[in-house]
Amino acid sequence: MQINGLHHVTAISGPARRNLDFYGRVLGLRLVKKTVNFDDPGTYHLYYGDADAAPGSILTFFPWDHAAPGRLGVGETQETVFRVPEGAIGFWTHRLVEQGVPHEAPVKRFGETVLSFRDPDGMRLALVGLPGVEAEPYWTDGGIGSENAIRGFHSVSLLLADAAPTAAILTDVFGFAEAAREGTLIRYAAEGTKVGGVVDLRVAGGFLPARQGAGSVHHIAFRAADDAAQDGMVRRLAENHGIRTTEQRDRNYFRSVYFREPGHVLFEIATDIPGFAVDEPAAELGRALKLPPGLEAHRAQIEAVLPALD
Ligand code: ZN
Repeated sequence: MQINGLHHVTAISGPARRNLDFYGRVLGLRLVKKTVNFDDPGTYHLYYGDADAAPGSILTFFPWDHAAPGRLGVGETQETVFRVPEGAIGFWTHRLVEQGVPHEAPVKRFGETVLSFRDPDGMRLALVGLPGVEAEPYWTDGGIGSENAIRGFHSVSLLLADAAPTAAILTDVFGFAEAAREGTLIRYAAEGTKVGGVVDLRVAGGFLPARQGAGSVHHIAFRAADDAAQDGMVRRLAENHGIRTTEQRDRNYFRSVYFREPGHVLFEIATDIPGFAVDEPAAELGRALKLPPGLEAHRAQIEAVLPALD
């Protein structure tokens, strides 16, 4: 059976230390991997997630000290949304006020309560309060109790000039189906997928194209159980949509292919295997700087240029 839903979301941020303070302390996510950008090893690649570093909970950042701010536009992820227990929205509203986090008043979207806010780089985030998620995996840090902790991704919304070509990929390749419409939003859901099982398409005219920078989502990744499942999706993209992906790249914790979908958002297909415990014990995720085998020989030089995180 195909596993559907989001695997991870990767964004660009300003200074790494500020990023870690916000996602680790303010939001209480677990730093599940501290490594470097394999294509630019002088910069970090930080991964946050739940206690198990499960696919569908993973938000990653390329932090650059002097990243210019991005500008939201069409062909880009507009908002990244986490799940929290239904009763936690009050706690979070209070916490965002207390921590000085810019946010909006909670609103109803598709009948659910949504609290939108921004990270220190202006990245658009939100929490959605859901019934019945209390028993699902979480991580608690920074004084956030289990009754309030984040339970992985709910969704991303994509800002598009035209929904149909992107929708065709979501439904034909990634196992999503149209679930609802509200205003300019069309909701796609992967049936039976609890975490990261929703993608909202927002059709918006009049926006300039996106300019990526700090606060921008660089790409979103969908799950494939293994290489064979990924290969099946790659073939479907080619045969039914005329889209070629990159060659598979080994990201150490998953194996990935990339393609730009018709609405210009960069999509990735990432395998669930081998996972984040491949190079350090599950209990110690995120504590030590981990490097892929090819970069281990350069550890001293890499550590010398990376900024301190504490
Ligand atoms: Zn990725």
